[in-house]
Amino acid sequence: LSQALTSREHAERRRVDPSAAHAGALDPGALEQAIRAGAIVPHYQPKVDIGRGLLRGVEVLARWTDDTLGPVPPDRFIAAAERGGLIFDLSLSVMDQAIAQAAIWNARGLKLSIALNVSPILLSEPNIVDAITHLLDKHGVGAPQIVLEITESSVVSPDGPALGALARLRLRGFGLSIDDYGTGLSSMQQLARIPFTELKVDRSFVHHAHRHENLRVILESALTMAHRLKLVTVAEGVETIEDWRLLQRYGCDVGQGYLIGKPMSADALLPWIKEYQERMPSLRAQRSTKL
Ligand code: C2E
Ligand code: MG
Ligand code: MG
Ligand code: MG
Repeated sequence: LSQALTSREHAERRRVDPSAAHAGALDPGALEQAIRAGAIVPHYQPKVDIGRGLLRGVEVLARWTDDTLGPVPPDRFIAAAERGGLIFDLSLSVMDQAIAQAAIWNARGLKLSIALNVSPILLSEPNIVDAITHLLDKHGVGAPQIVLEITESSVVSPDGPALGALARLRLRGFGLSIDDYGTGLSSMQQLARIPFTELKVDRSFVHHAHRHENLRVILESALTMAHRLKLVTVAEGVETIEDWRLLQRYGCDVGQGYLIGKPMSADALLPWIKEYQERMPSLRAQRSTKL
């Protein structure tokens, strides 16, 4: 696989950002204060139907721009929150804001599936299922409108509390997605024991797959397996029209990535929909292209 990576990708992986937000440990006090002040806010990235091009839903991605640190990458503050015992407060704050926004869109007739990222550490909190359900009741949103994306790189232990929480959430009607599929150590094991409804292939198997045979084999096999397991298939990291075409050819259900739309504020979503509707016919037309 490493041979399939371009030199640019190797460079990106090695890159060390010199800004303060990246260097050293985050101050847990600053993070806690940001959570309290509601300074960690949701952004939304479109998930669209690959075949027809229609908007299906949005993924909620947390954003934090600190006055002194500047923009802090979510990978960093999520990890800091997990270490510092702040993941419950952070996640519930972001979910509360996102579900409130979903209720506003619903009232305007824009019913979007809402994908929330959840860490297995959050799922191990004793009252997590009730806490999430309470947020939905508070805003009048139903569980079937929500998909929980669980990153498989963080191992969910076979008999741990996270597994029980996932089973209960599924029974309550939530969708469950295995995120960044292919990057974890035990993807297939997780697939076999967690009642997932969606499989989201990691972007490292999506972008550039049209240029690398080995990536195509992995991508196509993952999609075939997911379909046979009756899961909705999603590809992240759709950056080019070539990526889109390949996913159409492989019958992938849903796509997400910079070609379609970047994560954006709630206010930016309606203008994006308008712009996307003008652009969508040319994306759809790719279907008839002979590959
Ligand atoms: P993820 O859930 O796999 O989210 C996808 C990441 O890929 C996002 O990075 C998104 O901005 C980026 N992305 C989307 N399209 C493209 C593309 O076409 N090309 C490339 N190169 N990247 C693309 P982001 O926002 O930096 O988030 C990173 C990770 O942080 C997320 O990965 C997720 O695991 C975690 N995260 C973000 N928000 C939350 C949250 O509220 N709670 C939890 N637990 N985790 C979160
Ligand atoms: Mg995700
Ligand atoms: Mg990923
Ligand atoms: Mg992902």
